[in-house]
Amino acid sequence: MIADVIKGFIILFVVFVPLERLFPLHQQKTFRREWATDATYYLTGFFIGRAGTVICIALAVLLADGTANSELQKWVSSQPIAWQFVEAMVIADVGYYLGHRLMHTVPWLWQFHTIHHSIEEMDWLAAVRVHPVDQLFTKLLQMIPLYWLGFSAQTFALFVLFSAAIAFCIHANTHLTLGPFKWVVATPEFHHWHHANQPGVRNKNLAAQLPLMDFLFGTLYMPPGQRPIRYGIPYSIPTNYFKQLMVPFERLATRHRRKRPMTSTQPLQKKPIYLRPVPLLLCLVLVGSATGGVGYAKAKNYSIKSMVYTFVAGFSTPKITTAELEQGKVKSVVVVDVRDAEEYAADHIGDSISVPLTEIKTGEGVEKIKRLANTDSSRVQSQPTIVLYCQSGPRSIEAYQILKDKGLNLVVLSGGIKAWRETVPQSKDMAILSRISSSTKLIPTIAHEKR
Ligand SMILES: [Zn+2]
Ligand SMILES: [Zn+2]
Repeated sequence: MIADVIKGFIILFVVFVPLERLFPLHQQKTFRREWATDATYYLTGFFIGRAGTVICIALAVLLADGTANSELQKWVSSQPIAWQFVEAMVIADVGYYLGHRLMHTVPWLWQFHTIHHSIEEMDWLAAVRVHPVDQLFTKLLQMIPLYWLGFSAQTFALFVLFSAAIAFCIHANTHLTLGPFKWVVATPEFHHWHHANQPGVRNKNLAAQLPLMDFLFGTLYMPPGQRPIRYGIPYSIPTNYFKQLMVPFERLATRHRRKRPMTSTQPLQKKPIYLRPVPLLLCLVLVGSATGGVGYAKAKNYSIKSMVYTFVAGFSTPKITTAELEQGKVKSVVVVDVRDAEEYAADHIGDSISVPLTEIKTGEGVEKIKRLANTDSSRVQSQPTIVLYCQSGPRSIEAYQILKDKGLNLVVLSGGIKAWRETVPQSKDMAILSRISSSTKLIPTIAHEKR
């Protein structure tokens, strides 16, 4: 993974440094002030970003499981990728805009966001100077609606790649622009004004990708023929990475000790009247979704404790993706469906065997799976790989945790049958499974076990 991080950094360096040298906006050194600090943000941000994504998924699973409409999700993911991508961009940017606006207007959030604005010499690397709290907050508002609506995995991958690329572009120190398209997609011209430290230019251009958001919310600012002269905030903060991470906490603690209200250094502009209910609405949506999620969990007899447990256990569970299974990464496979019998009856992968999690919990299912593995190993003279799957992941992780010390060779299908069905139609199940299944002789045994 470290190699990937460094490779990514080298690619960005090779792309952006010549671009900034050939078409600069401001004359500045490549290794400008605090370059090393921002390089550190790049290295650590990669891991924080990953952790953030995991947290987003966990929260989304919690919310989506309870409140999402599976018909709507099916419809969303069945659209052409290009159309899904455009929708995802708009929806994520509404989330980002609101989160970013809150970062600028809620004083304690501004303390975290101030780190990103402390940069005084803009270039591509400035994109990564983001406090982890800031990163998590905006990522949540961007990603949860996408998970909730059920966009396909390919759309997600495209969106993540595109939004990362655009983040580096809009910070770059270049005078290049996109002509009339600068009103469609964010450019350096658009985002540099967001970082301007000049009177009269505050809290402008808050969107991540689409200037349209700022147009709609009344914060768009791109005066023709002008570019910002100065960037940053009106006070200085430490240049050291670790000290910067501590700045928001220190400032919040100082405010607490002095018992006086903290003020954001960027004065709050008067909000248009139609924006006043936005934070309230946002809170209502969040609280509503959370309540819905908890209610659903209760109705389905899922406990929040077990959901959190499953989430944590997910880190130590060996997983395999649909693509890896298709490529035959594991051979001699026995596929086990741990969902309820009704879910199995509605749809299941090929000749997988139904052993519901409820049975595994009582011990009966454990014996069944052990028997399957033993019958099989006596035929093929090696332990088969038991592939566990459920709807989207949590239940198979729970099943794995129960089965892991029973001397079995286990792996969990990442994303469950939901991920599998995104690429494999029912008619192709058997073609794939027959290539990797344990033994054809086993089929009568499996058929028997199914009943
Ligand atoms: Zn900002
Ligand atoms: Zn920025």
